[in-house]
Amino acid sequence: MISARAALELILGKTAPCGTITRTIESAAGYALAEDIQTDIPVPRFDNYAMDGYAIRVEDITAVPVTLHITGEIAAGDIPPRPLGAKEAMAIMTGAPLPECATAVIQQEWTERSSPQEVKVLKTVPAGHNCRRVGSDIAAGSIVFHAGTVLRAQETGVLASLGVRFVNLFRKPRIGLLATGSELVDYGKTPGPGKLRDSNSPALSAKLRELGCEVISLGIVPDEREAIVSALRSARNVDCLITTGGVSVGTHDLVRSVLVDDGIDILFWKVNIKPGMPMLFGVRDDLLVFGLPGNTVSSLVTFLQFVQPAIQKMSGHTTPVPAFRLPAILDEGITKQDGKRYYVRGVLERRGETFHVRSTGSQVSNILMSLVKANCLIVLPEDKSEFTVGSHVEVELLP
Ligand code: AMP
Ligand code: MG
Repeated sequence: MISARAALELILGKTAPCGTITRTIESAAGYALAEDIQTDIPVPRFDNYAMDGYAIRVEDITAVPVTLHITGEIAAGDIPPRPLGAKEAMAIMTGAPLPECATAVIQQEWTERSSPQEVKVLKTVPAGHNCRRVGSDIAAGSIVFHAGTVLRAQETGVLASLGVRFVNLFRKPRIGLLATGSELVDYGKTPGPGKLRDSNSPALSAKLRELGCEVISLGIVPDEREAIVSALRSARNVDCLITTGGVSVGTHDLVRSVLVDDGIDILFWKVNIKPGMPMLFGVRDDLLVFGLPGNTVSSLVTFLQFVQPAIQKMSGHTTPVPAFRLPAILDEGITKQDGKRYYVRGVLERRGETFHVRSTGSQVSNILMSLVKANCLIVLPEDKSEFTVGSHVEVELLP
């Protein structure tokens, strides 16, 4: 049985970014850049000022208070009318360029307007005070973003300020999703005796769409070899196949042998974790195949731990981040099977300076409400089996 860490390493080792697409920057959030963005434009493009106030020459305000003669006003978007002379000031608005010979801006709060033509400066300031220098944000010639950067609102704003309209991006993977199990019916139907609604496909499909993937539904098939084969073969041009159910050791668990017969090279089956142990990973050329367990909690937990990082790498993220981990203090004792990594559904809360966590109760893997109540997974490492109240543990926040 493979460890969680080795399983993820193996998966990422077999995963490569998909091809590229071009999009406008306004429809690019959530995508990773497929190119470096270099600029020959500095940001800001000209020295400008961060405060409403008065443009002054610092040598005029070495002794304060001092009264200066107002010779003009510069609003954002204006060009300064003329240079600043000795003992002169110009009213200046946030974002406006500085007049020639001015060396700082004194904010309005540190002045008194004694008359329409005169301002009394109450404090001294150093040269460059309140100045946003040309290129101080981004220097001309620099690489602003490297390929692999995932664009968010803030990167989009920077691209716009550089005049970039279109960007080359890694496309998101196309994912074929298949639910297997003779007991399953579509969630829109009423299950007959012994049947139940397929909740895995809608749940995983929601996660996949959240990640921006194109989801190709391959439907629901019974535990029958031919049905599974033909559903899998109906998936055209997909980068990745995800199945749920039928991957355990029961006589009706056929997914693994069907995949083998279909030329999929199974790289691991069974991971040393709970929940989600009977998970499978295989490849055929560039196609990745994940066989997730049928239990609803197991399928979502294994998706988050193993499939999501692969999707991020396929989407061109340079570092597919394993979920961010926080230290927390355990508020209940937990005993686990030795040698296995556990992902316990937990409720994390802050008390004073520390984070405390407890489980959501019963951890059986078919009770999805236990994951609904959770805001984190408590990750209990392989090498320890007793976790007493007050133990230090790590948690992964649930998205
Ligand atoms: P399996 O992995 O096929 O052994 O299934 C384990 C458990 O998960 C069984 O109780 C199944 O009925 C249940 N299950 C399997 N697939 C789904 C699904 N798509 N939606 C909800 N429950 C499922
Ligand atoms: Mg089954």
